Amino acid sequence: MLYRAEGLVIRSTDYGEGNKIITLLTPSFGKQGIVVRGAKKLKSRYGSLAQLFTYGDYSYYRSGSLGTLNSGEIIESFQELREGLEGPAYAAYAAELTDRAINDDEAAAYLFHQLKACQTALAEGKDPQIVLRAYEMKVVSAAGYAPMLDECVSCGKLEGPFRFSAGGGGALCLSCRHRDPNALELSETAWKILRVFLAIDLRRLGNIAVRDRTKKELQLALRRWLDTHLNLNLKSRNFLDQLEKYGDLLGERPIRANPERGSATPAAAESAPETGAEDETV
Ligand SMILES: [Zn+2]
Repeated sequence: MLYRAEGLVIRSTDYGEGNKIITLLTPSFGKQGIVVRGAKKLKSRYGSLAQLFTYGDYSYYRSGSLGTLNSGEIIESFQELREGLEGPAYAAYAAELTDRAINDDEAAAYLFHQLKACQTALAEGKDPQIVLRAYEMKVVSAAGYAPMLDECVSCGKLEGPFRFSAGGGGALCLSCRHRDPNALELSETAWKILRVFLAIDLRRLGNIAVRDRTKKELQLALRRWLDTHLNLNLKSRNFLDQLEKYGDLLGERPIRANPERGSATPAAAESAPETGAEDETV
């Protein structure tokens, strides 16, 4: 049967002589594995359709679990994401996270749009430490593991302060914090941003300026959450960790690619007008 779907390439591996197998994330059919014959040949028309991060319109025959590409068109190549060292590493992390967290054939329209928005934001040079954290929240939600952040998961108390409990399922009030000795103490700003990440559609993500200290809190909280609920051990994350360690040694901040591209919209400000910190805007 011939299928047609828009999709983002979230995985691309060599297959036999000159071929590739790609995994597409599509809005209607979820993940689709497709063989692209001759993709590695120099003159192949379909070589770029088989590249990681490509957004295209794909026609493929499928009878069993694996399809075969019939034809396709590139809608957006996301070439920016293949340049430099950090850019590809961040985008590869988003792709691998998606691939591993989502089952085949699960309808994934919302996540498809979130990943496309994530790739667009990275290509525009938005802060990867924010874009990826927001996207992680979208992935855990799509996988059915959204944290409860607005009330204590144990007693339902609505007012904080709270601790962040990955094992417990989200917020724990001070009377209930003994239920998880590993629960994290996070700043009010970090809590607000986590709630924004949970609520926001990435297509509306503006530029968010956040202190390095807060970024570390967000990274730690989401990492605990991912490791507790999905436990994926991603190769791309290990590589990113090494890159960041190297950057810390050099005392450099992550390189921001191409800040001119795209317009910065303060869309996120509508969701969280106050961060409680003068030099941070959400
Ligand atoms: Zn409680």
